[in-house]
Amino acid sequence: MKRREFLFGTAGSLLLALAGCARRKWSAEDTRFAVLEDVAGRSDIDVCIIGSGPAGSALAIDLLNAGKRVVILESGSAFLDTVGTARAQKLDAYETIGLDYPLADTRVRAVGGTTAVWTGRAPRMLPADFEPHPLTPPENPWPFGYEELKPYYRRAEQTLHVVGGPSRGERAPREEELPGTPLIDIAEMRALAKRAGLTVDFPPFAHAPDPARSEPVRFARDVIPALSRHRNLALVSGATVVGFDIGPFGRAVAAHVKTYSGIQHEVRARSFVIACGAVESARLLLRARTAAFPRGLGNRSGALGRFFMEHPYRQFKAPVPGIPPFSRWQVGRTYEYCAPLRAEGSGGIALALYGRPKAPEEITIKLGIEMRPDPDNRIALSDRVTDGFGDVGAALHLRFTDQDARLWERGEGIVRSLFARLGSGTILPEGDMGWQHHHLGGARTGLDPAHSVVDPGLRVHGTENLYVAGSAVFVTGALPNPTLTIVALAHRLGDRLRGTD
Ligand SMILES: Cc1cc2nc3c(=O)[nH]c(=O)nc-3n(C[C@H](O)[C@H](O)[C@H](O)COP(=O)(O)OP(=O)(O)OC[C@H]3O[C@@H](n4cnc5c(N)ncnc54)[C@H](O)[C@@H]3O)c2cc1C
Repeated sequence: MKRREFLFGTAGSLLLALAGCARRKWSAEDTRFAVLEDVAGRSDIDVCIIGSGPAGSALAIDLLNAGKRVVILESGSAFLDTVGTARAQKLDAYETIGLDYPLADTRVRAVGGTTAVWTGRAPRMLPADFEPHPLTPPENPWPFGYEELKPYYRRAEQTLHVVGGPSRGERAPREEELPGTPLIDIAEMRALAKRAGLTVDFPPFAHAPDPARSEPVRFARDVIPALSRHRNLALVSGATVVGFDIGPFGRAVAAHVKTYSGIQHEVRARSFVIACGAVESARLLLRARTAAFPRGLGNRSGALGRFFMEHPYRQFKAPVPGIPPFSRWQVGRTYEYCAPLRAEGSGGIALALYGRPKAPEEITIKLGIEMRPDPDNRIALSDRVTDGFGDVGAALHLRFTDQDARLWERGEGIVRSLFARLGSGTILPEGDMGWQHHHLGGARTGLDPAHSVVDPGLRVHGTENLYVAGSAVFVTGALPNPTLTIVALAHRLGDRLRGTD
């Protein structure tokens, strides 16, 4: 069995990102931070949110708008604090078992979370993704559907500044079109895809609020500075939650929080929301064992950490005789094979066609598959790696099931048939298999505590006031990029916690 450690792995790439952002005059100096000791002495906090990525920040916006007193405890540092950032990365302690997966390079421990490096694609999931299909676990289907999330998708698109205008291909139904236009004009790619019988779109894009910046919204720069100055919010950086006091009837009373120097404090609140990304949310719940929850919070089912999914892809390139060179880089994406493949009894696939100006008469097709939720794909506590505090790290067990392997083959057959329609002969795999860096599952939602970790309202089973926000709660992985759905779920949770749902 292949094992790899990625201790402190993001430090290099994150520091590079920092350097890049500094060059682009990234300024987060307007962010106001609170002091952990002050927050620890308070007894008036309504909601304590753990993690300041899009899930935690979107939730905070709603709660503050409803007049709640909110604390965000964020393990990472302010984005330009290179010393703090280096110390924060020492808390990312991972090993992967099975497939070679670069876990530490696929998330960021910093104020604003992984939006520091994300690429901003923000499509909705399709209604059929929530309905029972061949990959849906029969014992634990999604407990809510697209219609339930629809108003929250609209809000999430506003929170993430999503632009894109009308799309033409397979897409979720919506009341009004997205504002703006696609980030890239893909007219040439649309024409080419049409020859292969496909309708493609450039995905909706979460644009930085400043229209002059052609890049995604980054929470540390675009959202958190204003949020942090709200009089009812205390944002604490360098504050890592390592456990909870759980009182009678599963009531979370306090979060145990460590500073980088290892000093521990307790923060008390009426409710707690874990918004640490799928891997760290599962790790925290697993670590937070109590006498009543000896296998971890919400883990009476044994489902905690299990059913982890990603969005893997492979690329194929081939000459396409007779096409004029593209005027610029263009990509068009389609989900139109999902429904027919699910009708055949498998998961869906996503296809993206790439054309480049410097590669005339050649295109690349990227094939993404929908992984089956598999109990053996899981986040567990490692018996080998410990983090900068000496606390137990996470072990990710990841493999492809036979069903995944069959879908790879079926998808490759579809790619070959598309190239054939375009008149291409020689088709070459391009590079190794890749991952989109989407962490899904590990604390799935469901009606039945025997098969899930959080209830349909995202409350951890067996607790009274502890919730999970983020893609850990996904039941199936679907194919669209997850962050818009993460933010929609956070807004839905916001309505529940402020009592308006
Ligand atoms: C290179 C890259 C490109 C991507 N591109 C896209 C894309 O185009 N579209 C898309 O939808 N998704 C994309 N993603 C994924 C996207 O970034 C995530 O889905 C999204 O950031 C998840 O939001 P979150 O708030 O749940 O978690 P995160 O953004 O990871 O935030 C979690 C926060 O919790 C903090 N935290 C963790 N543990 C603790 C703890 N114990 N105590 C306190 N705080 C803690 C972390 O420091 C972090 O700030 C990409 C990811 C990568 C790496």
